[in-house]
Amino acid sequence: MSTLALYGGEPIRKKAWPVWPPSDPEVEEEVLRSLRSQRWTISGLYNGNRSYEERFSNAFAKYNSGKFCIPTANGTSALICAMQAMGIGSGDEVIVPGLTWVACAIAVVKLNAIPVFVDVNESTLCLSPSRVEEAITGRTRAIMAVHLYSAICDLDNLLQISEKYNIPLIEDCAQAHGAIWRGQRVGTIGKIGTFSMQQGKILTSGEGGACITNDSDLAGKIYAIRTNGRSRLSVPPAAGYMELTETGNVFASNYCLSEIQCAILLARLNTLDYENNLRKNNKLIFETFLKEVEGLSLQKSSQGTEAGSMYHLPVKIDLSEFNHAGIETICKALSAELNTWIHQPYAPLNKNPLYDPSSLKWYGDKKDLDAGRFNLPVSLDAHNTHFLLHHSLFLGTTDDMEMIIEGIKKVKQHVK
Ligand SMILES: *Cc1c(COP(=O)(O)O)cnc(C)c1O
Repeated sequence: MSTLALYGGEPIRKKAWPVWPPSDPEVEEEVLRSLRSQRWTISGLYNGNRSYEERFSNAFAKYNSGKFCIPTANGTSALICAMQAMGIGSGDEVIVPGLTWVACAIAVVKLNAIPVFVDVNESTLCLSPSRVEEAITGRTRAIMAVHLYSAICDLDNLLQISEKYNIPLIEDCAQAHGAIWRGQRVGTIGKIGTFSMQQGKILTSGEGGACITNDSDLAGKIYAIRTNGRSRLSVPPAAGYMELTETGNVFASNYCLSEIQCAILLARLNTLDYENNLRKNNKLIFETFLKEVEGLSLQKSSQGTEAGSMYHLPVKIDLSEFNHAGIETICKALSAELNTWIHQPYAPLNKNPLYDPSSLKWYGDKKDLDAGRFNLPVSLDAHNTHFLLHHSLFLGTTDDMEMIIEGIKKVKQHVK
């Protein structure tokens, strides 16, 4: 048996993986056009043309069959705008999955509201509806349904709870651009859908985000909250004048996305379906190969999933099949073997060192923010029993899929 790459042996994979994010001539041309347009942001003077921001917003709304789309600076600010538009603030509670990126909790805390962490389902790794129902109190103002990694949440049951208690769902689609649930794109099923276009995400402009909604009142509020209280003139002004107008009726901030980033997104949106399909087909191939290795299984999506998406693919390990080697060691050995960073899922938010409300000077009741009151055994178990494969690994060939399996087999033989 050849030595593990972790200990200086030959790695299974030396060649580079598909580049992420890719740049192609269409993206580069659109970026050049935006650079030469003399308008780099919507708060710059009108140049006689529709802004990239408006064009991307229309294209993304249309792609999702949603009525309104408001691009934002990033996914975190999309969440903040969505919740602020719903009137969420001091003392309100928002249900947040225990297993998700820390930004979900931070966005709630930014509004002086309280994130209530709820455990996930062990096979979908998304919010457990029964745990959600238990966590609802008279102060619950929203349920943040995060479509995590390669799964869509259990929307059947979450929608039912949302209706029963009259508490809106916010869909966090930061990891699920283009996924389809019962004939609808995610993000259009709850009251508001939010997206991140950060570099690692499957639609990206480096940094970026968006909210989509079918509710015109919420859309108008989000627009103003994002744009320091300004709105767009219904008829464009003469070139050289401002297209934004002061409303002066919203306490808001600046979460605008630049024209250059919107140009990237407009061009990249054209390849999203192609890439989602490629990943889906490679995942199917990977899944057949995976059956050759005892003790491994993949995250499942909820019922109603018609087209999934993939940000990471979580692979669950039955550690008894791997001689109870620690998950961290397995991740390190796989990373070295496959020449790419392979890591565990998020730490549960009550254990995440980045989630520390006491690091802020608070003006609410700090005891409410005591993360210790949340018990998240399933999230913790998920963190300790999975490794994640980044979606860019699935933009290659069948041979690439086989190589990932070879890497896993080699690590397994060694730990045994
Ligand atoms: C990435 C991400 C965010 C935050 O997005 P940023 O663009 O990094 O601010 C929020 N929620 C989830 C689930 C994410 O994956």
